[in-house]
Amino acid sequence: MPIGDFIGSLFKDNPYFGAGFGLVGIGFAAKFMKQGSQYGMIMFRRHCMITLEVPKIDKSYNWLLNWISLHGTRTKHLSVQTSFHQSETGKINTNFDFVPSPGSHFFRYKNTWIRVERSREKQMVDLQSGTPWETITLTAISRNRQLFFDLLDQARIIALQREEGKTVMYTTVGADWRPSGLPRRKRPISSVILDQGKSDAILTDIQEFIANQQWYIERGIPYRRGYLLYGPPGCGKSSYIKALAGALDYSICLLNLSKGGLSDDRLNYLITEAPEQSIILLEDVDAAFISRDLEKENPIAYQGMGRLTFSGLLNALDGVASAEARIIFMTTNYLDRLDPALIRPGRVDVKELIDYATEYQLQQMFQRFYPEQSKATSQEFAQKVKSHGKNVSIAQIQGLFMMHKNSPQDVLANTHQIWTS
Ligand code: ADP
Repeated sequence: MPIGDFIGSLFKDNPYFGAGFGLVGIGFAAKFMKQGSQYGMIMFRRHCMITLEVPKIDKSYNWLLNWISLHGTRTKHLSVQTSFHQSETGKINTNFDFVPSPGSHFFRYKNTWIRVERSREKQMVDLQSGTPWETITLTAISRNRQLFFDLLDQARIIALQREEGKTVMYTTVGADWRPSGLPRRKRPISSVILDQGKSDAILTDIQEFIANQQWYIERGIPYRRGYLLYGPPGCGKSSYIKALAGALDYSICLLNLSKGGLSDDRLNYLITEAPEQSIILLEDVDAAFISRDLEKENPIAYQGMGRLTFSGLLNALDGVASAEARIIFMTTNYLDRLDPALIRPGRVDVKELIDYATEYQLQQMFQRFYPEQSKATSQEFAQKVKSHGKNVSIAQIQGLFMMHKNSPQDVLANTHQIWTS
């Protein structure tokens, strides 16, 4: 008997060996199949699936979330994103956006099923905002990467359409700029009535600045321009800056210097890293360093918080080194409270007094509010107001008009109410 047959018969006839080999065989086969399927899956993923990961800090993250909630997914697992916005009149509008909650969701786009996985890391936080680290991963069975480009592009277009004709306001969250509430409807610059020629002068100056980047680069001058609007409250400083941003298609980055936790370094970073095409607005700059006294009074409450020093502010204003045009607006009701160092040329290039209403402004306001009235009536109104010999802000005039919305005659008869009501 050949040796091979002999060994074969030994195993065949021996039930222990037979069973053992059978089991080993099944084990091998299972392992082989498992490895095979794993390998197959890897190859399938590599060649037939596309994935896209979008971290929370990426600009397209929110666009994508909104797009997914608008399209496709009929998921019942939603998170809410509440934004609110206070209008000039003080009314607060709240808006709820439902976005897919963390977990997996599916939707169809261009005949392809796409899985959306929104994952939230418990261990990791976004250091700048202090919120949990999140990512969205899109997975599709397709080889066409263009699918994701198209999707992101659509998401971007929809997001920008929402902002069209609107001004985005940014505020600081930690060391980062974040849009605050929904974009606000642009206020026409013509609706803010400054004294004759003032509005045009500022607008022309800023437009010239934006158009002349090369001039600054060639001379090695930091490409920045500072403006200071000063004057009594209610005369249109804030309204004008917001309208100006709208006219330029810029956003506004509102920087509150009195906010706790703002250190020199952080301020420097915020000013340098402000979003493109934005005006950095420092309102009531005079108040910033007064409130610092609170820190002296109550050092324990402020312990460990960042500290903003006056020289830190000056350095941040001087050190703006950015290829982008940096436009900084400051406002104050009290020019005399400002340190001359803060408003010297180079830090503040244009100073403009936005004062109590002139006769010209009174006329213009009346005409805007009551367009059917004659020029002579608006002149009469302006003269009546002036005859009281008292200062009046446009906000006060607006108040009087609101009292007599439909009756210009009552306005003319009751100009004294400006100071009594
Ligand atoms: P300021 O910043 O000078 O304190 P605001 O811009 O906040 O003044 O104005 C307060 C209110 O008065 C706003 O509702 C604004 O519409 C109105 N207002 C003030 N000044 C003007 C102006 N020059 N033209 C039109 N509206 C004005």
